[in-house]
Amino acid sequence: MTFYQKLLELFQSIHNSERFLDIFPELEAEILQLFCAERITIYQRSYHSQDIYSRFKTGSELTEIRVPIGPQSIAGYVALSKKSVLIKDAYDEKELQSIHPKLSFARQFDQKSGFRTRSVLAVPITEQNVLLGVIQLINAKAAVAFSQDDLDKATQLAQVLGQKFRYELGATRGPFDDLHHRNLLSASQLQQLNQPPQDFTAQVNKLITDYHISKEQLGLSLEAFYQVSFIGFEPDKYQLHALNNKLNRSYLLKNHLVILDDQSGKAIIVLTNPNQADTLMEVERATGLLNYDIHVALPDDIDRYITGHQDNNLTELGDLLNEADDDLKLESFQPQDEGISEDTPVVVKLVNRILMDAQRLNASDIHIESGKAKSSCRVRLRVDGECRELIQIPPAFMPAVVSRIKIMARLDIAEKRLPQDGKFSIKLANNIIEVRVATLPTVFGEGVVMRILASGEALPFDKLQLSPRNYQMMSQMIKHPHGVLLVVGPTGSGKTTTLHAILGQLNTPDKKIWTAEDPVEITQPGLQQVQMNNKSGLTFAVALRAFLRADPDIILIGEMRDKETAHAGIEASLTGHLVLSTLHTNSAPETITRLIDIGIDPINFADACIGILAQRLIRTLCTRCKAAYQPDRAEQDYLQRHYGLGFASELELKNPLTLYKAKGCQNCDQTGYKGRVGVHELLPVTAKVRQLIYHKASIEQIQQQAITEGMRTLVQDGILKVVAGITDFKQLQAISVFED
Ligand SMILES: [Zn+2]
Repeated sequence: MTFYQKLLELFQSIHNSERFLDIFPELEAEILQLFCAERITIYQRSYHSQDIYSRFKTGSELTEIRVPIGPQSIAGYVALSKKSVLIKDAYDEKELQSIHPKLSFARQFDQKSGFRTRSVLAVPITEQNVLLGVIQLINAKAAVAFSQDDLDKATQLAQVLGQKFRYELGATRGPFDDLHHRNLLSASQLQQLNQPPQDFTAQVNKLITDYHISKEQLGLSLEAFYQVSFIGFEPDKYQLHALNNKLNRSYLLKNHLVILDDQSGKAIIVLTNPNQADTLMEVERATGLLNYDIHVALPDDIDRYITGHQDNNLTELGDLLNEADDDLKLESFQPQDEGISEDTPVVVKLVNRILMDAQRLNASDIHIESGKAKSSCRVRLRVDGECRELIQIPPAFMPAVVSRIKIMARLDIAEKRLPQDGKFSIKLANNIIEVRVATLPTVFGEGVVMRILASGEALPFDKLQLSPRNYQMMSQMIKHPHGVLLVVGPTGSGKTTTLHAILGQLNTPDKKIWTAEDPVEITQPGLQQVQMNNKSGLTFAVALRAFLRADPDIILIGEMRDKETAHAGIEASLTGHLVLSTLHTNSAPETITRLIDIGIDPINFADACIGILAQRLIRTLCTRCKAAYQPDRAEQDYLQRHYGLGFASELELKNPLTLYKAKGCQNCDQTGYKGRVGVHELLPVTAKVRQLIYHKASIEQIQQQAITEGMRTLVQDGILKVVAGITDFKQLQAISVFED
């Protein structure tokens, strides 16, 4: 029999065995013969512990030996480094040191038994780069030492044992596989998650945010893969180990690594990827630590151990900047530093603090703007549609702040000349904030705009503040079992809010609702919401086709961006589905001509469309401080004229008339306004309007017909809200400007 035939037979016996270490004594002689070796030890990884163990027969007794993972022994070193070694003479210290400066041979076993070890061949048993054991062969019989050929053969044996051990230990093939085994994640979700580039932090965030996996469940899955214990953030149980001082703080944060003390005095190296043998060896070299446990943890939790869980007791921004100044001085003593690094704790804190303030103030956007020359850089927030300054930051910090945000959004920090966009989600004070990031190079340096995605609940339909006519008509429209219903307006006009309010009204157990959104900003239980991903080809049109095969009743398509999507949406409604979507058009009648212009068949569209709601958001007066006044004649005339003299009676203007204007108080940050309200223009596609669409009538003709049938324009709806005291005269201009 050739060597390989024998090896195959051996593999077969290993696979057929219940537990490898139980049958190993029977196979031992055979393996020794195959490798022409005097002795063999096969170590197996202990479950959740930082040593390897083996059993061997002495006479009829089974003895167990344990070896710590570390350079104190050859097998321990191989386990730590996951690298094979070929050693001519285990007693030659120089030879050992050429492999690793601290590598030593554990002579005590020889001393006890009178055996003399000479040559050693040791190979790690790994599977998916997780260490599961070590094969150690001692004293080549046919030659002075083991050869490269022996090493190759041992490596093959190690592969077979790796699969066997993985099975025995119940280890999974990937860090998140166990979630799938426990039906917390579908196969396609797992596959999507594992698509390159694999960024562990991003994967974890996705699991927690999108798939609602708890930290505990994630921990179990990581344990099943890495075969080490998982720990969460438990500052009462674990303290920072003194040896962290020997490691650079930015090194710890960058590698998501920390050394903890579990009060028994034993050091625990905690990291997100316990497979990083190189990192572990770096830590050993820098700290001299030899005896320790390895645990796995989530990146956020590790960072919290390092930074001292600052998120709970963050100081005010001003204090932070003072601290920043101090850090700045410290930094300047470090000659190798070209500036402030993006992982300087104060930069991390500063960015977190800006995000927290933005969320607290209900801002929609954060603008981080470079200033001219040495002047300060500004951070401004857009709240209720208007920008205001939050803070100024020293110019020296600007590049680090920008880099920090780019890292969070996984953008290229080296690319400073071209605009980039990305997104991230971050958990601050127990709220997960999703942020879309756009960077832009300006003449004064790079700037960043972050949009905070309203991750929230849907507004109830009756809180949309539709006028009584619009409310009643809209309630009827959404009861249609099929047809197209459009909500139109510019970016930031609240279209998503309105659509989700409508879906909330329609979301009953007997309806199947699919949504394709970019981004998914509001989630509702019961809806099947799909995030678009243009890079991977998941466009609105592709999603729509998929939905039609997935038995829908109601479909939401985020935007009828192009002819293909609009056409597919209209077709879907004609085959018996209610389709909701949006367009970036200014008015309801304009939407019709826009769709016809891009090539949509007017007859199909007229037959499919139920109605079009155009909308804007305008600021509402602060209810605490709004000031009443009596408008003069000119102002009253203006209102009546713009409402339309023929309809002025609808306004039911009282005599004397009381309107309100902005004043300013603490409640509204002295702006006089708080919150926003929609103004609407609802165009139902009636028989007459349909005839006009068939004949490609002009915007004016359609508008005129709709008004005759009771439609009120955006400006008219705004005037109604002024008269009702919800907003003021000044805000009307905002609508008119949009209408050019
Ligand atoms: Zn106020």
